[in-house]
Amino acid sequence: MREPLPLVNLKTRMNPLLEISFRVPFDKIQASDVEPAIDALLAAAHQRLDETIVSARPLHALDTMTENLDYAMSVVRHLESVATTPELRAAFNAVQPKVSMFYSSLPLNEELWKAMQRYAATEEARALAGAMRRYLTKTMDAFKRAGAELDPPGKTRLKEIDVLLAEITTKFSENVLDSTNAWDLVLTDESRLAGLPPSAISAARAAAEAKGREGWRFTLQAPSYMAVMTYLDDARIREQMWRAYNTRATAASHTAGGPDRNNQPLIVRILELRNEKAKLLGFRNFADLVLDDRMAHTGDRALQFIEDLRVKTDQRFREENQELAAFAGQELNPWDIAYWAEKQRAALYDFDEEALRPYFPLERVVEGMFQIFGRVLGISVTEESGIPVWDPEVRRYAIHDRESKKFLGSFYADWYPRENKRGGAWMDALITGDPAGHEPHLGLICGNLTPPLDGKPALLTHREVETIFHEFGHLLHHLLSSVEVRTLSGTSVAWDFVELPSQIMENWCWERESLDLFARHFETGEPIPDELYQKMKRAKTFRAANAQMRQLGFAFVDLALHREWDRSKDPDVVAYSRRILQKFSPATLPDDHAMIAGFTHLFASPVGYGAGYYSYKWAEVLDADAFTRFRKEGVFSETVGRDYREKILSRGDSEDPAVLYREFMGRDPDPDALLERAGLLK
Ligand SMILES: [Zn+2]
Repeated sequence: MREPLPLVNLKTRMNPLLEISFRVPFDKIQASDVEPAIDALLAAAHQRLDETIVSARPLHALDTMTENLDYAMSVVRHLESVATTPELRAAFNAVQPKVSMFYSSLPLNEELWKAMQRYAATEEARALAGAMRRYLTKTMDAFKRAGAELDPPGKTRLKEIDVLLAEITTKFSENVLDSTNAWDLVLTDESRLAGLPPSAISAARAAAEAKGREGWRFTLQAPSYMAVMTYLDDARIREQMWRAYNTRATAASHTAGGPDRNNQPLIVRILELRNEKAKLLGFRNFADLVLDDRMAHTGDRALQFIEDLRVKTDQRFREENQELAAFAGQELNPWDIAYWAEKQRAALYDFDEEALRPYFPLERVVEGMFQIFGRVLGISVTEESGIPVWDPEVRRYAIHDRESKKFLGSFYADWYPRENKRGGAWMDALITGDPAGHEPHLGLICGNLTPPLDGKPALLTHREVETIFHEFGHLLHHLLSSVEVRTLSGTSVAWDFVELPSQIMENWCWERESLDLFARHFETGEPIPDELYQKMKRAKTFRAANAQMRQLGFAFVDLALHREWDRSKDPDVVAYSRRILQKFSPATLPDDHAMIAGFTHLFASPVGYGAGYYSYKWAEVLDADAFTRFRKEGVFSETVGRDYREKILSRGDSEDPAVLYREFMGRDPDPDALLERAGLLK
């Protein structure tokens, strides 16, 4: 017989992180709850892992095995991002390594792998279809990529490689940081600052003061470096700074007797280890290993994709460079490009982004966005009240299906900066529901947008408006998911596909029809005047071929290094990379140019963007191309909207993204859509 429940003891308090709650008790969670809750949930997850291993259906058990831990960690991580305190940060830092160690140990767990193999051989597993079939295949592949099929010496070597890669890539990143910080330039003659905007001058003055120096101090940190390259009249100073930036972490950046910060030998080691790892796991090269699980699938396919774009961009790239040289009236060096391009932009467009702000009051933008996508996607968004939140500025909304009235999920929106909140904009999932069991999803979107000032409403820049639409797109990918397998739900899709649902939303920020719905002057209610609208459109495509070639150059060098670079043929990896980048540079690169030595995207972590830099362009092609259906059939077309929701947005990773895309468009992605949007199509 069960013990009778004790009478409610008002002194005992239930830890609010232990139970999944759709009404997250943000008003009750304290920093002191974190460690005991996560420790208990980790212990429970270990126990469920043991149960999964002996389960008759380990695949199904695996899908929900860490549900409670996932929830608690996302709530804690979220609070640490938006309402941090020293106590909360300390608690988060104390649990984070344990939790990530647990997650990363799963594909290396031999007992679990054996259980999966046993299950995969059953009649039931062989008969699986749809998302569950894909989940099985993906799970088995993930184990294999983690080395599950290697013999014992192979497993030992794989572990060694991973340890070495973690160490060397950390050192790479430290070298970039240290050599960035080791350089500065202090000017004491005010006349040499000519051309710089007042904001950059005050920043340089403050940077000098912080070091107890006279004059103005410039560094290789992005804001300081970019301001000099874009505005400073004195070309000799620009050259000095450009050279310092592009020789960071090389032998040339050493001061005699100083610490060794040369990244060249580290790049060689990283590339060799990555290649060895790929071969050990049965792949031709590192690109094929990394892309195995992505939409592009192979390095060959990714290369073909960027080569096609390069060919189509090249002519306009040359023309732009000639136009800029003609405008400047001189041959241009690499340190002249940004400077003259800014002069040319100002001469051609005279476009001040600030002039758009009065047309973008936040409340109206958000309302308009809910209306547009309510109509297009067949949903309704309504504000919820009386829900606990982490800050009084936060709102919560519910999303219902318009026709069936089914409750799909809720989300929190937190738009303004605060001291206890991190920078940037992001979307996150708190609960992944079960659409079949009618459990709704829960998510959030956050930003750091211009707050209300001087008694006026919050007036946004156009870029900020795009940010809201972008994050709302990620959010809808989560909230409208109808995938039955939790692990494959919503935004858990391939890396080169995940930005489609977000980036496509930004297109509605450029169409006259949709702008007129939400972009209205906050005082007069007038839409954006046509002259201003045309300027904004034209400024968007200014030097688009250069912007594109720059990204393609990085993607090319990335794929070349991870597919075909051969030390015996090209011992100097920096020179090899420079030769590739030269084809994408508007000016001749000097012989000591070593951008690759500071390329943290590729080398600052064991995988990072390695072999994945092409994804930026890949995702842009997807969103530009998918949007052409709305363009043709109407930006408010409910037919296209429902189709998009049904075939892409609601399907998460339940099917190969290339298949989802083909189902929606009736064909493969067409890069011309991107070229057209960028004004590069002849
Ligand atoms: Zn995004």
